[in-house]
Amino acid sequence: DAKGEIGRGLEVIEFACGIPQLLKGDYSDQVSTGIDVFSFREPLGVVAGITPFNFPVMVPLWMAPMAIATGNAFILKPSERDPSAPMLLAQLWKRAGLPDGVFQVLHGGKETVDGLLTHPDVDGISFVGSTPIAQYVHETATKHGKRVQALGGAKNHAIVMPDADLDNAADHLAAAAFGSAGERCMAISVAVAVGDAADLLVKKVQERALAIKVANGTEPDADMGPVITPASKERILRIVTEAETAGAAMVVDGRDLVVPGHEDGFWVGPTVIDHVTAEMTAYAEEIFGPVLVVVRVADLEEGIALINSNPYGNGTAIFTSNGAAARKFQRSVTVGMVGINVPLPVPVAYHSFGGWKNSLFGDKHIYGPEGVSFYTRGKVITSRWPEPTHASGASYNFPSN
Ligand code: NAD
Repeated sequence: DAKGEIGRGLEVIEFACGIPQLLKGDYSDQVSTGIDVFSFREPLGVVAGITPFNFPVMVPLWMAPMAIATGNAFILKPSERDPSAPMLLAQLWKRAGLPDGVFQVLHGGKETVDGLLTHPDVDGISFVGSTPIAQYVHETATKHGKRVQALGGAKNHAIVMPDADLDNAADHLAAAAFGSAGERCMAISVAVAVGDAADLLVKKVQERALAIKVANGTEPDADMGPVITPASKERILRIVTEAETAGAAMVVDGRDLVVPGHEDGFWVGPTVIDHVTAEMTAYAEEIFGPVLVVVRVADLEEGIALINSNPYGNGTAIFTSNGAAARKFQRSVTVGMVGINVPLPVPVAYHSFGGWKNSLFGDKHIYGPEGVSFYTRGKVITSRWPEPTHASGASYNFPSN
């Protein structure tokens, strides 16, 4: 997982190395006699990034290379739960020759964040974290005149059609639900089983969930490690128990998992819950743990309506062998990142990453072309260099071409 996140972060650095292509602006020659117009983009100034615990290198690298390559100074406020990886990043920037002060790490919690959101010298804020904090960051920083992109939480659905290759769908669903113990903003947490795909799909996902090796994350053959804090574990167990009490079917129950030798660890085993309905907290809340809920629907239209009525809109996917169904899905679903037989449709660095609805507050997605636009503002120059002999005197008419 750590190698994977570093690889995705490096892709953004590679993209940022070619940034002149996106900063070079436009030029219109002779828009009127002797007048040229040209435009280019300038940095905002000082920008800050506030990042979550789950990818302590990749998420800062979604921001800093873009901000710095476009000419800004960058202050990183990393998660207080894993603050050391960003310090390594700072050391690497320094070793690479970045002047002091261009990339800084500022540690802390709410008080530190509030300092950045209200500071008169901070021009822009990039935030990635949970929805309530994203909304707060967006409201507070815009009130203080800053440009803000605030990416929030998620509830990502994958529709599985009866015509899908169910073994392939089950492999991908299990990996997307349980990889990183489900602590990914693009994790699939809801399987939407269409028609008679449901029984067989649940059986196949169950087989895969039971085969997952949960162990200390430093063991090379661990498929999944513990969750981040005791509070996280408690929240996950509460939501699973509420689903059981509300009548959902426990297919795989990871609540009692203990890993020998690590009895005090924050373990939650892979959990699969079937017959979940939209009213249950297991559907309504972001669980951010290794829990896959299955909602059964009659057809594609019902599945799309379910996704579109969900307040989150980060990622989604469809598994099908029918191009018409896939096309209908991609065109009508109100979600920012869509996978067709791809469970985690995280865009490559030369596209931009961002959800819709409660998964993003602000106008611009992160990294890629939208990242360039976020960290810069346009300037348009209208220029005339009259020759001394051509002075024409003052004109009081409204100028036209
Ligand atoms: P979090 O919202 O608790 O913390 C994110 C950042 O906000 C941290 O730096 C934290 O110090 C700060 N913070 C926390 N409480 C604050 C407060 N009251 N006021 C001001 N700042 C505060 O998120 P987390 O638990 O670290 O990360 C998990 C969440 O992040 C999940 O909801 C996940 O979906 C989301 N996430 C989203 C994306 C995305 O791209 N949309 C990516 C990764 C994670």
